[in-house]
Amino acid sequence: MNERAEYHQEKVSLALAEAKSADQGHVECNVWAEGHEGSKNWKVCTKNPGHIGFIPATQFSPDLLPSPYNQDTEVIELVRLQIELTVRLRVHFTSNARPHGYTFSKFKGQHIPHTGSGIVFGAFYNFPPAPPDNKSYKACPCQVCDEAPPKAGRKLEWWSVEVRTAKHVTYDTEETKTTIADLNLDQPGQMVSTTRLYGISLATSHADGDIARILFATHDEAVGQRLAKASRQFDMLSASLLRKYRDPDRFPLYAVICSHPHGCSKQVTIGSRTGRLVVNQKVEGAQPNEEWTEHIYTTPTCEGSSGAPIVILGREKISGRHWHMISHVHREALPSGQGHSGMTLECFVNTDQPVDNNSSRALPI
Ligand SMILES: [Zn+2]
Ligand SMILES: [Zn+2]
Repeated sequence: MNERAEYHQEKVSLALAEAKSADQGHVECNVWAEGHEGSKNWKVCTKNPGHIGFIPATQFSPDLLPSPYNQDTEVIELVRLQIELTVRLRVHFTSNARPHGYTFSKFKGQHIPHTGSGIVFGAFYNFPPAPPDNKSYKACPCQVCDEAPPKAGRKLEWWSVEVRTAKHVTYDTEETKTTIADLNLDQPGQMVSTTRLYGISLATSHADGDIARILFATHDEAVGQRLAKASRQFDMLSASLLRKYRDPDRFPLYAVICSHPHGCSKQVTIGSRTGRLVVNQKVEGAQPNEEWTEHIYTTPTCEGSSGAPIVILGREKISGRHWHMISHVHREALPSGQGHSGMTLECFVNTDQPVDNNSSRALPI
């Protein structure tokens, strides 16, 4: 892909970046200023000075997981895939549609970049995502093809990649079209990724639950294949772990987060999962046999961790039917210092029976 979208080169003063950052309440995006990108914010961080407990992605090893999970090859592989599928999101525009009082609403219509994190959860060859405003796409609808010279035209072979994040990170399609997802940003000190996905549109989202499913594109066959395989493995391992660790007295619950604090390279943090909120009331048409939930945890996070995937180790003792199939994403830092996730559906299945994947319904979000 060309370099057009690499940096939008906004000239943002430090004062302006700080003003935008102050307009986000307890959520944890990182706002970049010209010459003051994430690496400087990392050094002056006051929430987690020294970032003790933050493990660079390249230094993750199974023995850093708590016992007994560090003995389980499936858990180790699940976390390894969580790390591989985590992306840094750079959002270069703040939508005019952000409602009054919402995160960054004082800066709508402006090109002041902020970063968050997200997780790839699917990739599909030549799958038209049918953007709401144009269902006639027969070729790649990405922002790079939008601006390709007429002779070059749109790429006929491409992959769409689905990413889950928090809605306050990428609010709508207008923002998604200016968003870049950086993969493989794993080396400490590394700020630039050579593997990028280009935002196409927001697919679905939920404002109260603060989750969003957004679509990206890549023209790179190998990247598409790799992400499709890794996300399928992540799902299969999540399902496989259904039958394990269902006694919280024996298996304490933990929340493993992988994110890009301050928009810098990928870090893993681990803490206790301390609370679970059932929020069915937020979802119109919630079914009686399912629970929409949010989690509370002590896992360290910083600005830039918004939207980061959370893997919960262990599970509640709830009639043996609990299914953490879909990973929650990080939402905000509570005044208590603990973290609070966005909402996701935890499907309920009878874990004494074989898992019937066909029994799950299409998600409303
Ligand atoms: Zn920090
Ligand atoms: Zn394209």
